[in-house]
Amino acid sequence: MVQRARSAVVFTGAGISTECGIPDFRSPGGFWTRYKPIDYSEFLASEDTRLEAWRRFLMIRETIARAEPGPSHRALARLMDMGHVTSVITQNIDGLHEASGIAADRIIEIHGNGTYAKCLSCGLRHEIDWVSEVIGETGRAPACTGCGGIVKSATISFGQAMPEQEMADAKAATLNADLFISIGSSLQVFPAAGLPVLAKQNRTPLVILNREATGLDGLADLVINAESGPVLAAVTARLDRL
Ligand code: NAD
Repeated sequence: MVQRARSAVVFTGAGISTECGIPDFRSPGGFWTRYKPIDYSEFLASEDTRLEAWRRFLMIRETIARAEPGPSHRALARLMDMGHVTSVITQNIDGLHEASGIAADRIIEIHGNGTYAKCLSCGLRHEIDWVSEVIGETGRAPACTGCGGIVKSATISFGQAMPEQEMADAKAATLNADLFISIGSSLQVFPAAGLPVLAKQNRTPLVILNREATGLDGLADLVINAESGPVLAAVTARLDRL
């Protein structure tokens, strides 16, 4: 299927980065088995909750800062170079697709980006190191230096609106795809998981590659329950031999 594809879209979730040492959130022992996710409305409502959200974010960020692209990221970059894949839509905030050499304009980040923070009122960008310093020095959650508004990492929380442009780009890419491959996502988070559904509605073949069953396996033309790295490395190796 990949060999025939000329405009495949790959949709990735936290599972594609576990081989890089970044744990996913839902797997047994994952982050959310220890910490209940903080909803956007809770983040807005209380400074204590914002401080807790920042504490968790800064912890995860340390792991992300140490991580490098893994076999799956590298294989996808190769499939793009070979002309089979046109874009990557990712739910991840770790920046590893870009670090693997894929051009930024081929990557659509629908759950935002964890490398910086933004004021929720005026949109001013703030650096995460600055946030960390403010919390360290004052013990308070950071406020915008421009307007005093609430500062949040530029990632999308539960209950927060999806980024409009990125969602529009993701839908357009999905509708243009001749193959849609979901990798390392439980496909339980909507509206993100609506993209493979949209692909199928558009009669595009759907492949799901995930360690365990997902919510959309029944829709897929092919389901591979396996680790993504070895499977994708086998795909590129086979294409290399052709
Ligand atoms: P998710 O719901 O997409 O689940 C991840 C899936 O990947 C699981 O079903 C798991 O079985 C599978 N998986 C794990 N390792 C795998 C591997 N090596 N090969 C194949 N499949 C594998 O994601 P989540 O963990 O519930 O996280 C929810 C949201 O939190 C994500 O959508 C993302 O926005 C964010 N998040 C991002 C990162 C990151 O940027 N790396 C990490 C954790 C969570």
